[in-house]
Amino acid sequence: MARIVVIGAGMGAMTAAARLAVAGHRVVVYERGGTYGGALGGVERDGFAFDTGPGLLQLPAVYRDLFVKTGKEPLEKCVELSQVEPAVRHVFADGTTADLPNASRAGVGTALDAALGAGAGAHWSAFMNRAREAWDRTRRPLLEEPLWPNWEVLAAREPYPAVPHKRLLRRERRAATLGEIGELELGGDPRLVALLEQFALAHGLDPRTTPASAAVLPYMEQTFGVWSVRGGLRALARAVYERCLARRVEFVFDTAVARVVEKDGRAAGVELADGTVEDADFVVAGVAPTALAGLLPGGAPRAAEDVPARSGTASRLTVLLALSGARPQGTPHRTVVHTADRQDELDRLFGERRGLPASPTVTVLRPDDEGLTPDAAHEAVTLTVTVPAGLEVTAADVDRVIARAETAVPDLRDRLLWHEVRTPADIAEATGADGGAVPAPALAAADGALLHPSNSTRLPGLFAVGGWSHPGGGLPHAGMSGTLVAGLIVEGPEFRGSQ
Ligand SMILES: Cc1cc2nc3c(=O)[nH]c(=O)nc-3n(C[C@H](O)[C@H](O)[C@H](O)COP(=O)(O)OP(=O)(O)OC[C@H]3O[C@@H](n4cnc5c(N)ncnc54)[C@H](O)[C@@H]3O)c2cc1C
Repeated sequence: MARIVVIGAGMGAMTAAARLAVAGHRVVVYERGGTYGGALGGVERDGFAFDTGPGLLQLPAVYRDLFVKTGKEPLEKCVELSQVEPAVRHVFADGTTADLPNASRAGVGTALDAALGAGAGAHWSAFMNRAREAWDRTRRPLLEEPLWPNWEVLAAREPYPAVPHKRLLRRERRAATLGEIGELELGGDPRLVALLEQFALAHGLDPRTTPASAAVLPYMEQTFGVWSVRGGLRALARAVYERCLARRVEFVFDTAVARVVEKDGRAAGVELADGTVEDADFVVAGVAPTALAGLLPGGAPRAAEDVPARSGTASRLTVLLALSGARPQGTPHRTVVHTADRQDELDRLFGERRGLPASPTVTVLRPDDEGLTPDAAHEAVTLTVTVPAGLEVTAADVDRVIARAETAVPDLRDRLLWHEVRTPADIAEATGADGGAVPAPALAAADGALLHPSNSTRLPGLFAVGGWSHPGGGLPHAGMSGTLVAGLIVEGPEFRGSQ
């Protein structure tokens, strides 16, 4: 039995902790905050409850597997999952709306034809067929296996199949970025382009530079579906925490790790903020790369041949709305209100003029869950906007976001009882990531710009877990990183991934 110290109680870290405890190790988690979950926070006030992190779950299979492998009660016994229907309503800049069904690629095609005109569905379906190829080529190396030592192969090779496009008087072109897929392969419909690019924006990525391999993001959502958790995603964090406790993982809250202790060239424990040293055979760090570098005497913990650690550039602004009046029957769980000015939005988020766009794309979540409101005569609504990391949010910014949401909730102003705001600074507080940056999932190609450092580090005995290490950010990805780290510790460096 090894003694293992885990730094941070985020989702990646807790997934690793539960799996390591089940393998017979003694696991202690040190969390600098007062609760578990990291980015998966929650707010409760006046009988309302809100998630302050993600509001919907993709690929629940990752957490299903965790629950099967760590105890008798399956995930569905511990949290109530339901597929939301429709998966999403899109409100495009021209006022057109499209309700897309959940986990039905054929249904999405039909819905797009009905909403955008005949042919839209065929363009989208042909794109999704190509996206499937990218998914098939990258699923294992990007989700299920430790980062390849020769990761340059993933960095160099674009898995999205090339479609040559003849342009008048111009040379043949192939889409290398998500933006170019929109330009070349979706029949010139700006609404389909907006639909596609929203998958990049929602992960804090610039579609103009995000590689075509990001086609796996819409593929994942439209093939495997999106799920809500009764009581909010915070209930998933609680279930994973409780599973850890059931497996005798020990949690020490309000206790920051100040330093990773190195002895004879390997990680030998941690020093806590009060100077106490806790010995360990292995240390698992579930924190952002800059935070981890600060915990090591030699700075960056990466092997020379590893993907370089990066700080993210995008964060989120979240506005929690407590409304009087019942949620109308048939309201979609999620509505995306698209920007009216794509160029301004991209410039503001990723260009020189950083700030909140004039008309930001807003995701409006209106869960059908009586556990989130004082009674059936109230509604809890959450607005999320991608913003630059470090953005100092003003009252005018918040007002602009609320105004955009009125497209999805027309009587919002009359019904508003109060609102609360979660800024990038609040995310930084919850996770420790600089500027409240939120990590994106790992993606192939783009010279490795969207790969994340490996879970093993140059310091033997020290492993990195969570959204800032392979396979990157997002709930399923963080869960997979926990699986990989547990595999690397239990089975050793020859571990080649979950089956
Ligand atoms: C607003 C928002 C919206 C999001 N939306 C989505 C979405 O739609 N879909 C999706 O899949 N993902 C989304 N994410 C991202 C997702 O929540 C994370 O990628 C996921 O939760 C993984 O977290 P993690 O394991 O990296 O740990 P984190 O959540 O980053 O937690 C790190 C933990 O480590 C602790 N810590 C840091 N330093 C120390 C230290 N020195 N000592 C002890 N403890 C320390 C922190 O206090 C924190 O608890 C969103 C995130 C946010 C904030």
